[in-house]
Amino acid sequence: MTQTSSQVCVLGTDGVDRLIRLLADGGRTVIGPTARDGAIVLAPLSGGADLPYGWGVELEAGHYRLRRREDGAAFAHSAGPQSWKAFLHPQREREWSADRTADGGIVVVPDEPPPVAYAFLGVRPCDLRAIAVQDRVLDGGRFADSRYARRRRAAFLVAVECTEPGATCFCVSMDAGPAAGPGYDLALTEVVDAHGHRFLARAGSLEGESVLARLPRREADVSTQQAAQRAVEAAADRMGRTMPAVDLRDLMAETLEADRWNDVAGRCLTCGNCTMVCPTCFCTSAEEVTDLTGEHTERWRRWESCFDLEFSHLSAGPVRSSGLSRYRQWATHKLGTWHDQFDTSGCVGCGRCIVWCPVGIDITEEAHALERERHAPPAPHSLGDHP
Ligand code: SF4
Ligand code: SF4
Repeated sequence: MTQTSSQVCVLGTDGVDRLIRLLADGGRTVIGPTARDGAIVLAPLSGGADLPYGWGVELEAGHYRLRRREDGAAFAHSAGPQSWKAFLHPQREREWSADRTADGGIVVVPDEPPPVAYAFLGVRPCDLRAIAVQDRVLDGGRFADSRYARRRRAAFLVAVECTEPGATCFCVSMDAGPAAGPGYDLALTEVVDAHGHRFLARAGSLEGESVLARLPRREADVSTQQAAQRAVEAAADRMGRTMPAVDLRDLMAETLEADRWNDVAGRCLTCGNCTMVCPTCFCTSAEEVTDLTGEHTERWRRWESCFDLEFSHLSAGPVRSSGLSRYRQWATHKLGTWHDQFDTSGCVGCGRCIVWCPVGIDITEEAHALERERHAPPAPHSLGDHP
């Protein structure tokens, strides 16, 4: 079937600027990447000039730096410290407040956040998959969250395919990139070469098609289409990390008693950074805050981490009191039991947990070590051993 120019076309940098303004004029809060405070952060955008043109990133385990790029690309950086869950599933939200009345009763007022229609610009394919993973958890199952669902259903997603993977990326191993999977309204692929700086754009929804039709654009030429395809294929070949090419669910299930968990527990600070930056982690807990008079109280929901000792607190104390049990819980849930609960992996290979771990613990390195240990021959008996 022939695609029309409102389904696939080429935008210039002016077209991306117009896209942001058009979405904002339509009442959307446009969020996208911008260079600020030494990082590529997600923040409100008012035009194309806010994008991080000419900035890239340098990543390693426990290491993140901005670096200048010669080519002026806007999206040649991999996942930053935030993910879109900061907007769809905010870190802290008031659920209700209650006040004592003059006659000694109590009035409880549920907190209804004002409706917001987001447009997310620059959703990397791994993060597009992460949004789909959170949809399974927060907008589809037994634990559906109406606030998440409202924000999610109103959101307009502009994916940007990955042409510059970071040293900690492994989306290919998790089948989550670098090409954009389903779920976007628009997908862009940035191309910078001798023919100029441009974006191959394609629509993934009727709304995306209608937005594209209102932008300054030109027909998708063969050279741009081939350059975009080559850039995405080359990104797949340049992934910085890989997971062992085995069934990770089986690997986790068969190595629960491995020595490697002791090794990683000796390095892990149980700080929970990995859970905060992970785009799929969804756990929350509730806290009640009462004012000094005792007349007013509020219930807040906030992100919770399975590395927190209180996370597994039952009547007799925490079920997972050791660092070993908490790291193992996190990794085996991400890579293993998430499949049982939600029929998908809990990891999309974005690499954030590796970059933002203060001691550089690398989930891919841990998985490889577990795989080696699973196949290691049993330790030989010493002369003094008896069968
Ligand atoms: S793995 Fe790293 S980021 Fe995660 S809890 Fe341990 S020290 Fe913190
Ligand atoms: S576990 Fe790590 S690599 Fe996987 S999705 Fe979460 S932050 Fe990204």
